[in-house]
Amino acid sequence: MCGIVGYISNNSPASCENVAKILIKALEKLEYRGYDSAGIAILESNGEKKIHMIKTKGHIKDLCALAADKFSTLENCRAGIGHTRWATHGEPNDVNSHPHMSYSKEIALVHNGIIENYLELREFLTKHDYKFLSQTDTEVIAQLVEYYYKETHDPVKAVRTATNMLQGTYALAIIFAEHPDMLIAIRKDSPLILGLCENRNMFASDVSAMLEYTRDIIRLSDYEMAIVKADSVTILNRFDEEVEKTPVKITWDANAAEKDGYDHFMMKEMMQQPTAVRNTISRYANGTRIDFGLKSITREYLKNVRDICIVACGSAYHAGVVGANLFEKALRIPTRAQIASEFIYSDPLINENTLTIVISQSGETLDSLQALRKAKELGSKTLSIVNVEGSIIAIESDDCIYTQAGPEIAVATTKAYSAQLVVLYMLLGHILSIRNDDASIESRYLSECMEIPAMLESILEHKEHIQHLASLYQNCESIFYIGRNLDYALALEGSLKLKEISYIHSEAYASGELKHGTISLIKPGTLVIASCTYEPLFEKTLSNITEVRSRGAEVIALAREGNTKLESVADHCVWLPKCSQMTGPSIAIVPMQLFAYYIAALRGCEIDKPRNLAKTVTVE
Ligand code: GLU
Repeated sequence: MCGIVGYISNNSPASCENVAKILIKALEKLEYRGYDSAGIAILESNGEKKIHMIKTKGHIKDLCALAADKFSTLENCRAGIGHTRWATHGEPNDVNSHPHMSYSKEIALVHNGIIENYLELREFLTKHDYKFLSQTDTEVIAQLVEYYYKETHDPVKAVRTATNMLQGTYALAIIFAEHPDMLIAIRKDSPLILGLCENRNMFASDVSAMLEYTRDIIRLSDYEMAIVKADSVTILNRFDEEVEKTPVKITWDANAAEKDGYDHFMMKEMMQQPTAVRNTISRYANGTRIDFGLKSITREYLKNVRDICIVACGSAYHAGVVGANLFEKALRIPTRAQIASEFIYSDPLINENTLTIVISQSGETLDSLQALRKAKELGSKTLSIVNVEGSIIAIESDDCIYTQAGPEIAVATTKAYSAQLVVLYMLLGHILSIRNDDASIESRYLSECMEIPAMLESILEHKEHIQHLASLYQNCESIFYIGRNLDYALALEGSLKLKEISYIHSEAYASGELKHGTISLIKPGTLVIASCTYEPLFEKTLSNITEVRSRGAEVIALAREGNTKLESVADHCVWLPKCSQMTGPSIAIVPMQLFAYYIAALRGCEIDKPRNLAKTVTVE
């Protein structure tokens, strides 16, 4: 995880802003990626061959406070690197924060990723009298680069030789005190994007950090190294041959990353769900037909595909559970959803007749990326559902369907999840119509999807009811989410939202499974949120509700309007518009998101940046 940035400019009046301020501003945009500590390293430009470093445990605002009285000293500096951390090796503290300096303090670097062989490398360097200050894997890289730099005095050779010895994942930004006119960036598996401007150049983990300065970007591929100067960028492949890459233009709206008057990004993003779903539908609706523009995954392939495997992590996995359930029921071919980190090491039974669908908001999730590579290795066709255009998973999969949720900043996903669900419904309609040679199926699925945005709007308009319920249960120690079939998939996501942002313990259970053990945890006053949107099993869930109430639980039930039977068995009912069976999860998740949000707000939690989490998970 973590965000890295590098910036270099020349002395032209148009570009010579304070580099420390620019780096900090960029880090604010990257903070969603990690926020336990932050730092910057700046190259002195007065000929002194020195690196200034400012770093601290805490958020970017803490770094900014620490740096404030140094801004004037750094006024004439033109180049530097920055980092916002999500610790993997070593607790979040000042020493473990990045940047890390080499032993002689001549080299500083920031790192996103994990170095798996760092202990061996540390031992090797210790034998050569290197000393280490931090517990991180990253410091090893700084020392290793120095070790080779001392041999060659060639920064490019030193970085290449050192990185060739690394096992694991990395995006690195490196500066050398002796080379104040240059930054080096290199990556493997962690993202790194170059931003090209006049009189200055930069790079970052994500384009949002650079939108203020440029829309011309180049994505570095694995092992590519960029030598970034104020007036030029040179890219070398893994054999150090120069490669030409054409910049692409980013069309994102820079304001999309602002709160627009909401208290939190999460509220803004929940409110944007109708638009996110509407935009996703309209991108792929072509009259009454669905057209994803797939190239490599042909109609012929979809007609004959024998099984489908959906792999993802977190909420995207929960969207996958909904999808797998619907696909298997409608297509009558085996379809399963699997957690990406389990899939990779499970010797999965897939082959060229399997369609592997990888879902990821960021398109960078490392577990999902590894799963994608595994599936390809086994001969499967891969289709990704991704929100961020041009991201690694989107590029590496055979075909990609982009959700149109726009930038999502809050760590707990809402609108991207909703957009993923609607892509899955449309994809199902598309495959089903191909397999049955019946175009009317697509138009039916499309009409059902088109009803979703208005229903979401009507729920969001009445959010005060959910706020009231949250106020009644804000002090709960533990909350159970139950449901059957699609409602179970929904319970998984509802429970995750609550855990992520309110820190209340919660479990999601298939309603029928409770009595096989977990019901022992139900005691007087325990809150159970029961989802009853799946009509075929409505009566069964009703029985499960009475079972928990008989043991003292209090129940909030979610169901479509008109199921009046619920009123006598639940303590509170949340009524949903009359959606179709398939689209039920899209509608019912919204009250659950709101409930988690309001409880977290009442408990004073840091909603957009929950502890220990980060938005984009680029470590295994
Ligand atoms: N492994 C490094 C550390 O723990 C970098 C972690 C990251 O990517 O945020 O400092």
